[in-house]
Amino acid sequence: MSDAYQKLLELNRQLQLLRDAEAVLSWDQETQMPRAGVEWRAEQMAFLGGEIHRRATAPEVGDWIAACEAGACNPESGECANIREWRHDYDRATRLPTSLVEEFEKTRAIAKSAWAEARAKSDFGAFAPHLERLVALSRRKIECWGHDACPYDALLDEFERGERSSELRQLFGGLRKDLVALVEEALEREPFDDSRIAGQNYPVADQARFNHEVAEAIGFDFAAGRIDTAVHPFCTGVGPRDTRLTTRYDETDFRSSLFGVLHEAGHGLYDQGLPEDLHSQPVGRAVSLGVHESQSRLWENHVGRGRAFWEHWLPRAAEIFPHLAKVTPEEMFRSVNQARRSHIRVEADEVTYDLHIMLRFEIETAIFDGDLAVADIPGEWNRRFEDFLGLKVERDADGCLQDIHWSLGIFGYFPTYSLGNLNASHLFAAALGRKPGIETLLARGDYSGLLGWMREHIHRPGSRWLPRDLIARAAGSPATPDAHLAHLRERYLES
Ligand code: ZN
Repeated sequence: MSDAYQKLLELNRQLQLLRDAEAVLSWDQETQMPRAGVEWRAEQMAFLGGEIHRRATAPEVGDWIAACEAGACNPESGECANIREWRHDYDRATRLPTSLVEEFEKTRAIAKSAWAEARAKSDFGAFAPHLERLVALSRRKIECWGHDACPYDALLDEFERGERSSELRQLFGGLRKDLVALVEEALEREPFDDSRIAGQNYPVADQARFNHEVAEAIGFDFAAGRIDTAVHPFCTGVGPRDTRLTTRYDETDFRSSLFGVLHEAGHGLYDQGLPEDLHSQPVGRAVSLGVHESQSRLWENHVGRGRAFWEHWLPRAAEIFPHLAKVTPEEMFRSVNQARRSHIRVEADEVTYDLHIMLRFEIETAIFDGDLAVADIPGEWNRRFEDFLGLKVERDADGCLQDIHWSLGIFGYFPTYSLGNLNASHLFAAALGRKPGIETLLARGDYSGLLGWMREHIHRPGSRWLPRDLIARAAGSPATPDAHLAHLRERYLES
């Protein structure tokens, strides 16, 4: 191993120590910190963020990377993946002038509160000038980063390495072709009356006990992780053996915290399955958001909303919540797989969800292709929404103002949610197809077969290959809409 490579490893170890400290502070802020601590915490975070950036972008780091690139490396090796990611991260970080980074941070801090106010009043006009500034600054970032065919690709690359909008367009186009009809058919079905499940009494402590048992059963390691409460549930890794999940509780319906925990535990299982000894190296980290989200959706939807899950778990749930003794597993299954028209993405069911994402993807690419002005977003949003979901949008708060992402200057993130869905279905089908024994185990409430397969094919490789390549190596081909459409048909039409 060259001297330059050793230096980069040591730098990465120090950067990871700082990043993990930053993650603990941020977890603490969302779960424990008293409100009055916010100002000093912001100073701590800004200091750490600045320190990480300064160290990661020092000129000698560029020399070390160049020295590594001059040597030979086996393209299948972890070393080669490290050098590839170091180059990528270094170029992205150093190509942006400090003045642009600072202006962006300032603008988005103001935009975030302007958005919250605009959303409360459902007044897009009040948010539009802030959004225009963030779009203009993002355009400048794209120019600094450079791009091949499509400017949007430079934004996408932040969240989904190597992904291109042309490929996404094709993928989502294929999905949409069949999904629109599938959604319509699912919406025509007789709604399931779940009044014996929803609107009952579910004490928080009992929900937490049940969630803990389920999370442990699917393989979440509580010696190396924990679950706390937060307003907006998330999962964060703060060290190689320290994964924090959060959820929120609804005392009238236990399913909200349960599916939250299954989702976040899916993220957590991925983090716990990454190679521990490579924790501070790029090759040891999660490869992309689209792959991360595949793991959360796999456990939440494919496992947690499946028949086998409720046949196994409903008797235990009924011990803790006795009124559930009157509900059958089949009824529970129907109740958690219902299609509903909704304006709000985060409330959407699994079958309509991707339409919400495609709409956002189309709007974002149109903005950065120069085909859509910020002022025209509401009209375009509402028109497409009605076309996709058959609902009129009466208020921008229920339309283009609903998500926080744009107010934070985050563009290119939304598609990773749908990539997560497609990857989850594709991987689940591949795992079951290659190891039919997994399905027998799932019926018994034994999740070791499925987790073992994900560990081997998705978790342990870390970032050795780019996302599409990783999925193709695991499942035999990159994700297509087929497995996901088959999954949705089975859940929403054939059951
Ligand atoms: Zn997620």
